[in-house]
Amino acid sequence: MVIRRCGAQRTVAVAVAATAVLAGCAADPAPSADPVPPTAGTTLVEPDDANAPLADAAVPTLGDRDLDVAHYDLELDYTPETGELDATATLELAVERPSDAVVLDLVDLDVTGVRVDGAEAPFDHADGKVTIDLGEVVAPGAPMQVAVDYAGVPDAVQTRALGGVEVGWQVRDDGSYVLSEPEGARTWYPVNDHPTDKATYDITVTVPEGVTAVANGELVEERADQATTTTHWRMAEPMAPYLATVVTGDYVGTSNDADGDGVLPQNVWTAGDTDGAEDLLAAQGEAVDLLEGWLGPFPFSTYGGVVLPPDDTEPFFDNVAIETQSLSLYGAESVVGETVVHEAAHQWFGNSVSVTRWGDDIWWVEGFARYSEWLWIEDADGQAAYDRAVERTYDQLAEAERPVAPGDLSVSRLFSAWSYDRGGLTFAALRAEIGDEDFEAFLRTFVERYGGANARTEDLIATAEAVSDEDLEPFFDAWVFSDELPPAP
Ligand SMILES: [Zn+2]
Repeated sequence: MVIRRCGAQRTVAVAVAATAVLAGCAADPAPSADPVPPTAGTTLVEPDDANAPLADAAVPTLGDRDLDVAHYDLELDYTPETGELDATATLELAVERPSDAVVLDLVDLDVTGVRVDGAEAPFDHADGKVTIDLGEVVAPGAPMQVAVDYAGVPDAVQTRALGGVEVGWQVRDDGSYVLSEPEGARTWYPVNDHPTDKATYDITVTVPEGVTAVANGELVEERADQATTTTHWRMAEPMAPYLATVVTGDYVGTSNDADGDGVLPQNVWTAGDTDGAEDLLAAQGEAVDLLEGWLGPFPFSTYGGVVLPPDDTEPFFDNVAIETQSLSLYGAESVVGETVVHEAAHQWFGNSVSVTRWGDDIWWVEGFARYSEWLWIEDADGQAAYDRAVERTYDQLAEAERPVAPGDLSVSRLFSAWSYDRGGLTFAALRAEIGDEDFEAFLRTFVERYGGANARTEDLIATAEAVSDEDLEPFFDAWVFSDELPPAP
């Protein structure tokens, strides 16, 4: 995600900062992302078990650690005029411990029926959880199909991670879009809502004739019925729930000229007309080319972008771009070069390799995406320009009275300068420490090893140490786990 603080800022878009001194502009309309007192390094809830993958202080009530969803098949019938969603979600899943129930996250919408392997099953829907009674204790690993019928008008939920901004299904005048990071997936489908339970997806969207619907992955089928259009999208690579998206509205699609010979197929949707579509296709193509040089092949079979129309309901999102998997969404004011490369970088860092715990791992997700902006600057304008970008960011961060270690961020600091900028500087410092050759090998090895899955900071450190054959514990202690800002890279 990128949250641009200034509409016209060209070089480095500064994310929501933890302290005012880090903000790029004085008159910033963005909400504060730090509503709690700035006590360095604290988490809201201590994990109850160091080995429990879902003991996530940032989203303590979400996800079931004993559940493993392999696939979501979402059939959505959406009417933009009324905002109503009528849907069936069919999940292929297994429990990981003996269990007589399956618990899924879903807020607000009405569940009207549940079937387990085709047979109706009793359920309870309360406090954002759908509890499905399996009728017997089921053994770990046994494959099961759970179908949930549900309907209603989806409503986004507030997240402390963005200072109270609402994430999830966003209703707009002539359509909708989904921006869920970090906790909005439960606003539109029943889900094991934590990034550690990644799954493949089929998303089929039926909308009134004349409305466009787009979702993650490849278009499998499109058909027109009497007064509706149905499109079926498939994400064949594992995807964290918050990265699933559906966009509906008045959009026009534009494709690049991929000839199947090393060119990644791209599709871009723009509101109403194709203004800017060619520019975005070109910028995304250049960003992917640059990043493939550092990281290896693009992790998905297609890439795309949607440029959202200006949002009168929540203008905050006009300056936000989000790396929804294989299909980045750009707020109306957010389409600039650095944003495009930032979201492209997330397709590797964040999407293919995902966080294990938000507060522990977001620094290398947002940090590498921020760092990719400097790679972009270096590629376009040379090393002196890269050095200036790194130096300027360091100088801004060094102004903060109370520096914060990025390796254990509270929920209000997930999307702060401590993840983006200090994270980015950590990559710059690591490159300076181990040299270009080992740095590139480290990046490639990390995405090869953890692609399609999740990683922890410890995994990243171990990869860097193995590739460089250096003891990097003091380096990462200083950059990631100590509050004090180390000397400039
Ligand atoms: Zn980002």
